[in-house]
Amino acid sequence: MVPDTATSAWRRYRAIPIVYRIGAAFVLGSIVGLLVGDAATALQPLGDIFVRLLSMIVIPIVIFTLLMGIRRITPSTLGKIGGQVIALYAVMSAIAVFIGLAVANLVNPGSGLTLAEDVEFEPEETPDFVEVLIGIVPENPIGAMAEGDVLATIFFVIVFGLALLMLEESTEDEAVRRGVESIFDIVEAGTEALFKIVWGIMEYGVIGVFALMAAVFGEAGIDAIVPFALLIGTLLGAILIHIGVVYLGGLIVALTRQSPVAFLTGSKDAIVTALSIRSSSGTLPVTMANADDNLRIDEGVYGFSLPLGATINMDGTAMYQGVVAIFAANLVGVQLTIVEQVTVVLIAVLASIGAGGVPGTGLIMLTLVLTQLGLPLEVVGFVAGVDPILDRLRTMTNVTGDLAVTTVVAHWNDAIDFGGGSWIDPTRGLE
Ligand code: ASP
Repeated sequence: MVPDTATSAWRRYRAIPIVYRIGAAFVLGSIVGLLVGDAATALQPLGDIFVRLLSMIVIPIVIFTLLMGIRRITPSTLGKIGGQVIALYAVMSAIAVFIGLAVANLVNPGSGLTLAEDVEFEPEETPDFVEVLIGIVPENPIGAMAEGDVLATIFFVIVFGLALLMLEESTEDEAVRRGVESIFDIVEAGTEALFKIVWGIMEYGVIGVFALMAAVFGEAGIDAIVPFALLIGTLLGAILIHIGVVYLGGLIVALTRQSPVAFLTGSKDAIVTALSIRSSSGTLPVTMANADDNLRIDEGVYGFSLPLGATINMDGTAMYQGVVAIFAANLVGVQLTIVEQVTVVLIAVLASIGAGGVPGTGLIMLTLVLTQLGLPLEVVGFVAGVDPILDRLRTMTNVTGDLAVTTVVAHWNDAIDFGGGSWIDPTRGLE
């Protein structure tokens, strides 16, 4: 029998909100990594299990929530929501690069540093934009799901969901209509079950995040980080401005008249997970759980906008391209012209759309920006050492941006549950 004290300690531990427990694991893991050094990398497998658990449910949760959402909306609403989401995503990414460039021009990271002679760099293939577009249509939907291809999966699920809706409306056959309803009912139960799994995985996340942070800081060590402190600080400063002014001030307060604190508290599990695992796709189940449980957004909006955002909306990644472009120019002692900086905005937005929501893709996309500007590609190898830190900041921004845009679009389409079964903001029209 388990002694009473152990049971009550466990209960008290469980009573602490999961995000605080994961936050503490994040900080403790980082400290342990810095103290223990290389040996802490032995913990990596425990962290990998956390990432794999989250990846395990990405595709099921995308399929189920999207189908649930389609059940609630008409094809024309889906088109309208899609247009709003994509337009806002693109505008936000462009603003992010502008802010990144502005802050980097002020701070000038990289001046005073020289490119290490011994940096070895093998450029990786960057995906071709047209290929990314064509790839949205899957040749084989099961293959796309098996490979974790979110865009192709979204495409097929939307087509299938719309077909189910049309069938439900047009069929004369009662058995078929009942069949369609059963499919949707099964999907509804499945979605609930998947969200239960998400919160279960987050319980393990306390161990997983501790291990991930210990391993990353154990490997990098403080000596490797210090020379890049200004670069990290510049990106962090630009991100805080983007989140504070654009997301909270602009999107949440000005456009939806909601409390920025409520938005941040509602999004906290997704933010901490993104910081820990460096992948917006991997964080997707938690992002969806936050949109559903805390921000009270309808599946009709987030079921579509969040998987799409995790793949194509990367404000942090886009901003990072701008910051590193200035860093690279300073390293080799050249000044980027205004025209070159505007070019950076364009390429960075496109590159961030093409970049998948997995660890380190922002670094690969950097080759596009540097090539375009004629800057040495060795810079990619140079910053690779601190990329695990920069990537966390980018991913956290990417995920927060997805949730902020989703909140605005949900507000525009009366798709936020304000309690008492009402989807309409009770204060609307009263101001
Ligand atoms: N890791 C980022 C993400 O998943 C992408 C990047 O490398 O910038 O959102």
